Parts: sequence; structure tokens; C-alpha cells
Amino acid sequence: MLRNEKRYLRLSGLEPLVVTPESNFINVGERTNVTGSRKFLRLIKEENFDEALEIAKSQVENGAQIIDINMDEGMLDGKSAMVNFLNLIASEPDIARVPIMIDSSKWEVLEAGLQVVQGKGVVNSISLKEGKEEFKKQAKLIKRYGAAVIIMAFDEIGQADTFQRRIDICKRSYDILVNEVDFPPEDIIFDPNIFPVATGMEEHRRNALDFFEATQWIKDNLPFVNVSGGVSNVSFSFRGNMTVREAINSAFLYHAIQYGMTLGIVNPELLTIYDDIPKVLLSYVEDVLFDRRDDATERLLDLAETISESKSKVKVEKEVLAWRQHNLQERITHALVKGVDKYILEDVEEARNVVSRPIEVIEEYLMNGMNVVGDLFGSGKMFLPQVVKSARVMKKAVAYLQPFIEAEKDVEKKSAGKILMATVKGDVHDIGKNIVSVVLGCNNYEIIDLGVMVPLEKILETATKERVDAIGLSGLITPSLDEMVLVSKEMERSNFQIPLLIGGATTSRAHTAVKIAPHYTHTVMHVNDASRAVTVVGNLLKKGNRVFKEQIREEYENFRKQFLKRGKQKSYISIVEARKRKYKIDWNTNEIRKPKQLGVQVYKDFDLKKLEKFIDWSPFFRSWDLHGKYPNILEDKTVGQQAQDLFLDAQRLLQQIFSEKLLVGRAVFGLFPANTIDDDDIEVYDENGNTKTIFLTLRQQLEKRAGKPNFALADFVAPKETGKQDYVGCFCVSAGFGTEELAQRFKNENDDYNAIMIQALSDRLAEAFAEYLHWEIRNKHWAYVSENFSNEDLISEKYQGIRPAPGYPACPDHLEKNTIWELLEVEENIGVKLTESLAMWPAASVSGYYFAHQEAKYFGLGKITEDQVKDYAKRRNITLDLAEKWLSPNIADL
Ligand code: SAH
Repeated sequence: MLRNEKRYLRLSGLEPLVVTPESNFINVGERTNVTGSRKFLRLIKEENFDEALEIAKSQVENGAQIIDINMDEGMLDGKSAMVNFLNLIASEPDIARVPIMIDSSKWEVLEAGLQVVQGKGVVNSISLKEGKEEFKKQAKLIKRYGAAVIIMAFDEIGQADTFQRRIDICKRSYDILVNEVDFPPEDIIFDPNIFPVATGMEEHRRNALDFFEATQWIKDNLPFVNVSGGVSNVSFSFRGNMTVREAINSAFLYHAIQYGMTLGIVNPELLTIYDDIPKVLLSYVEDVLFDRRDDATERLLDLAETISESKSKVKVEKEVLAWRQHNLQERITHALVKGVDKYILEDVEEARNVVSRPIEVIEEYLMNGMNVVGDLFGSGKMFLPQVVKSARVMKKAVAYLQPFIEAEKDVEKKSAGKILMATVKGDVHDIGKNIVSVVLGCNNYEIIDLGVMVPLEKILETATKERVDAIGLSGLITPSLDEMVLVSKEMERSNFQIPLLIGGATTSRAHTAVKIAPHYTHTVMHVNDASRAVTVVGNLLKKGNRVFKEQIREEYENFRKQFLKRGKQKSYISIVEARKRKYKIDWNTNEIRKPKQLGVQVYKDFDLKKLEKFIDWSPFFRSWDLHGKYPNILEDKTVGQQAQDLFLDAQRLLQQIFSEKLLVGRAVFGLFPANTIDDDDIEVYDENGNTKTIFLTLRQQLEKRAGKPNFALADFVAPKETGKQDYVGCFCVSAGFGTEELAQRFKNENDDYNAIMIQALSDRLAEAFAEYLHWEIRNKHWAYVSENFSNEDLISEKYQGIRPAPGYPACPDHLEKNTIWELLEVEENIGVKLTESLAMWPAASVSGYYFAHQEAKYFGLGKITEDQVKDYAKRRNITLDLAEKWLSPNIADL
């Protein structure tokens, strides 16, 4: 006998489906039902099984957790159709994955199905309709075939249509099944009949309520069973009025689940999100469902009249027409502010016929509109994603006008200024830069975007040739900081006078003030968000900007002085001393787990869809300048609406990425025997114990309070002298193959919005991949734990072990990527390359080490001193100059 708490409904196709009290509602796909789907009926009749299977497959893909199969049609030989189809399904793993519900009103069809179905399915349904003996006979067979069963609330007299009849029949059925047939109660699913509401008949008033209450009674009184039902039936009397039907179905389902319904047949097309049901409609619907007022049905019918399909369409059209009837400028402004591109070419053409020169359409009509966008954005009434959508409209309009402008040789478009934008040499990240470009473009700046990995010669050459008014540099990884310094020095040497703007993830006001500004006599400014870029550039380029520029200089000077003063207050210990104060793990009491699988493994074409659950969405919103934690951000008072719109757009593109396989996911990872030697080096061995490579780690040197350790990552691996064999791992994942081409395709269509979106989503998928792979490592390949964390827990890294990434605070040394690349043959295996600054290409890639020890944690290296740099140069066998170059952001005396 099973222990009671384990008595759950357990079904299976190729994969198990266990219905526990914690399970969400289980939805049963109903498309493979000849009585419900004309198309399916036709395909079966024509014996077009390929397409019929496609229907089954698409249901599973769209989230059906069980599929219902019904072949009850007069013209069909139901038995052979059922058997055929079930056999076909069995050879399609994408379908056979989920359990099957064999649906028929004929016992012979059900039994034929039971004989061939794979896994543990559900019979739909039997009842006491033909008396107790027949019922028992069928139940015994179902039990012998090992299936679960749906019991309809039906007996010799007929269908149960009241609360009392429902519970009487269910109770009687239960007692017979459990006591006389010894049927496992957890394999029983009751269907207490969902009947239409709001039919106008007095006796139907409690139809929904009786179902709810019967459901609750069943759950309370008949242990271990589940309750199911066919949901769409409840709204049957509103056929033809989708809005009302969807509202009734959704509200019904929402409440039925609260009362204890655990699974059911729902048609996703006839459902809306409960929270999205307009509040008035919802309250009328709920009046009906709960029989709350005598006139509930009439009121809902009246309301339904006013929101009937045809009427609501007219209303929308009217609204559309309303703004279409405004004057030309208002229409263009509306299109820009709302990001609607549907009519823009029409309007622009009209404007072109009004003005004397085509350029004036841009300078007047479009710019007037964009000024409104700018004002709204500036005053916080519009958000970045909307602005980027406005830019899309603008670009389409400008692209349309371009040939006319050129035909007139009227090319000198009066822009507010020319800005050169570039991601510096060796760096590949440009989402932020692209966003700033778009926003500046919206504000009538002409943008010359040189893309990524741009050598300084090209930046300066282009700046001169194009006579730009400012240069904006972007970069994400630390080596880019040095590259920016070089650009500033070169600008000084070549007598540039234009402002230099600095932005990107690792850049900061501190770095700009301390390391870049001193090299360039003219303005250098750190601008890290798109909304500020417009104001800053506006101030820098306007006439009479001397005062502003002087202010900036002064501000940065002061900042620098203060910063340097602050820097000097810290003190550091020698590397020798720091090693003495290393973090000491007691290797005698701590168990080391040998990985299940040592060596290198590759995933060449990973199904990105699997990563969906692992996505951390908060940084996605941040990349669009919407700040807040997901999912709360969707409800945020200020940015909630924006976040929702953005999220919807993202979901759409994401699903397209999955279904059309627009991006390719690849990974390479390895686990190896390893030991720490000489405190800071991690020796990595092959199967035979020969040294394959050495990871060099850096050690904190900040003078800390007594007893506080100075960490290096090497502390988390057992030292060789302990005599214990320990292990480490490393990896590289990428979701970026295809990103660039797609972004370019969108850009060619003047759709920066989606170009940025695809980059942002690729980045999310790459991070999700890293999270997923780390999970696999912990649970499967290294298998040092067996966990059951939610995505939230994963995002907050509640698990044991870390995956520090070279270039990040614990291990800021980018050169380590070379070591990982050699060890895993990353480029040969998956094609991810390293640039001269050791950025990964494609950009949406993540790499790192794996440390499994439970005390392993992330820390920041902080500043180090020259003695460690010298020592490091020796260990890595490079010149001191090179060591200083690569470690420069970490060296204490600047
Ligand atoms: N959920 C986030 C995860 C990325 S940031 C997202 O989707 O964007 C967390 C990762 O950054 C860590 O897993 C690690 O690889 C790296 N990281 C964070 N802090 C680090 C540190 N101090 N040293 C080295 N790597 C670090």
C-alpha cells in the first residue's frame, strides 16, 4: 500500500505527469477530437494522418499536458481510427511525451484504445449510466490495463444536474470503485458536469455554482481523487460573442480552480487572462456564475449587446478615424508619439506635396513631432522603448523622403549636430550605444555609427573627414577602458577640440575623471544613460556652451582630486603576507566529490527553448532603462504599462526565435582533476594525472581587520600538499550565433527597435544558458548535489558552488580566457572567438570556471600592488609591461 501522502494521480506518456496538490492546473488538448474539430474530422476521414499528427503535435508544443483523442463520428470506424491514430502517435516522441486521454462514449473503442496506448493514459469516460454491473466490469478492465479514469456524474436516471445529484452519484461511484473494485482512488477523476449558464432558464441559474460546490465537496469527501471538466461549455449561450465567452470561460476556470478543479479541457482560443477581463464585465459575469442577483442573466445579456463583436470593432475603427481626421501635423505627431507606422508614408507624402522642398517635411513636420517625443521623454512621461519605437516611425518616414531629397540635390539636411559613435577596438558590446544612437537620432542629431571593434585610427579619421561635432565611445569590458584612454591621448595629439563622451558598463565617472579627462584638454564626459545623453549633447553643442564646458571640467577636476585623496587612504599588504592570510578550508573534514563525467563535452545545437524557464528578466528591463525587479516591474505604478508592452514585444520575438530557430545555442564545458599549488595557481590534470594547464588566480591585498582572509579563487581548490585529489571546471556558452545577421536585417528595415530587442534577448539567453549549464553541472555532470530550486532561487544563486567569469571582480584577469579557450578548444568546438582585448565574439556569450566547494563564494579582488604584478608576470611568463597593461584597472597606485 502506498503511503497516503504519495497517493497522487500519476500519468505518463514517454514522460511522467504527476498531479500533486502543488501542481498548476493541467490542461487537456482537445483539438484531436472529431466531434469538436471539423478540420481534424476531415483529415481523419481523408486518412491524411500526417496532418492529423501535426495537430496533435502543435497542441503539445502549445502547452497541452495531456491530449484528448476522440473518434466518435457516425461515418468513421471509431475503433480502428482510434487504434491507428494511437499507434501513429506512439512513434512520434514529440507527441507521445504526454499522456493520452482516450475519449469515446463506446466501451469497445475505449478498450481498443487501452490495448495499444503507450504509458499510463486516462479513459474518458465511464459512468453508472448502464448500471452498476457494467460500470464495475469496465472499471475492472481499466484497472487491469493500468489506466486512470474519468467518471461522469451520470447514473441510471440520467445526468446529475444539481449539487445533490452530483455529489450523490460521485459518492456512489467512488464507493463502488474503491470498495468493490479496489480501484486506486488516486486514479479516479470526477467530471461533475459543466453546463451553460445565463440560458434564461430558472433551473440553470445555479449551474456554475453547483459545479463549484460539488467540486469542493468531492475534494473534501472523496480522498485522493481529482476533478475535471470541459470548460467552454459554460459559455455556450453566448456563441458568437467572443469577448463575453472568453470572459465567462476565464472567470469560471479561475474560480473552479480555487474550488479544487485540477484538470480540464480548455480551448486556449476561448480564454483570456482573468486579470484582463474588464472590471464591469467581470462583475456581471461573476454575478451570473455565483447566482448573485435575480437579474444577473438579463444584465449580462444587455451588457453583451453593447460589447458584441461587431460593435466593439466599430468602436475601435472610430477611434482610429478620430486621430486620422486631425490636421496633418497632428497626425504625424500622433504617429510619432504612439509609434504607429501604419499611415506614416501616406502622411509624409501628403506633407511632401504641401512643402516647397522635400527636406522641409523632415525639418518641420517630423521634427515638430519628434520635439513632442523629446519633451515627453525628458519629463519622464515617455520611456525608452517607446522612444525607440518613435524612432522607427521617423526612420521609415526619412527613408521614404530620401530619394526626393537627393533628386533635388538638397542634401544638406540641417541636423542639430553630427555625432560619431563607436564601440572601441577589441570590444563587441553595443546595445547601450545603439540605444543612445537611436535616441540622439530622434532628436535630430545625425549619427555616424561605426559599429563595434573600431580601431582608434578609424575613429579619428572618420571624425575628421565627416567633421563631426562630438565623439561617443562605448565599451563593456575593462580592457576597453584603456583603449578609451588611448583615444583621448590621440585626440589631444591630433589637436581635436570636440567633446568626447564615454559610456558603457565598466565605464564610470571615476574612471572618466581620473584616467581619461587628464589626457584631453577639451571636454570629456561620462554619459551612461540614454535619457541624459540628449540633454548633455544639447548643452555641449549649443552656442554659448563655454560655461557649461568649464563647469564640467571643474567638476571632473574636483572629482579627480577627491578620488585620489580617497584612494590613498587604503593600505595594502605584500603578496607574500597576503598568501599567509589566505582563506583556509579544512580539507580533512570536507568531502570532495569526484565528478561523474570528467573531460570535455560539447553541445553543438542546443534547443534554446529549454532556456526559457531560466531567463532572468530584470536585466532585460534594465537594458531598456526600465528599472525594477521582474515580475513586480510589470505592476509598477510608473513604468508598469511600459514594461508590459515591452515584455509582450519581447515574448513575441522570443517565441519566434524558438519556433523558427533564429538563433543557435552552443556550449562547451569540461571538468578536470585539479589541485592548488604555490597558494595561487590551480594545476589542471588530464585523466593520467599529467598537468594540462594552470589557472592563475590573483589574491586580494587590501589590509583587512585581523582574522579576515585575503581571498584568491585558488583557495577553493584543495592544495596539492593535502594529498587529496580535487576538481575544477570551466565552460563557454553562446546564444549569439545569428544575432548579428538578424539585427542587421531589422536595421535594414529601419527597425532599430527589434534590432536592439534581438540583441537584448540573445544576451538574456546566453545568461540563461550559463545558469542552466551550471545547474546541469551541479546535478548531473559533477553531480555533487541534487537540487530543486525555483528560477528565483537560481537567480539569487542559492546553490552550492560558483561560476566566476574572467574579467569579473574575483578574477579580473582577461588573459585567463586564453587558458580556458585552449583547454576546452572553444573556438574549434563551438566557434566562439576572442578579440584582441579578449572580448568574446559573438557578444552573447558567457564563459567562466566552476568551483564546487560549499565555501566557494564570489568576492572582489580589489586593488593589488606592484609586487603581485611582478610575480604574476613571472608566473605567466610575460613582460612586466604586458602584465601591467592587462592588470592596470586593478593596480593600486593608478
Ligand atoms: N542572472 C544574471 C546572472 C549574471 S551575473 C543575468 O541573467 O544577467 C552573475 C554572474 O556574473 C555570475 O554567475 C558570475 O559568472 C559572474 N560574477 C558575478 N560576480 C562575480 C565576481 N565577483 N567574480 C567573478 N564573477 C562574478
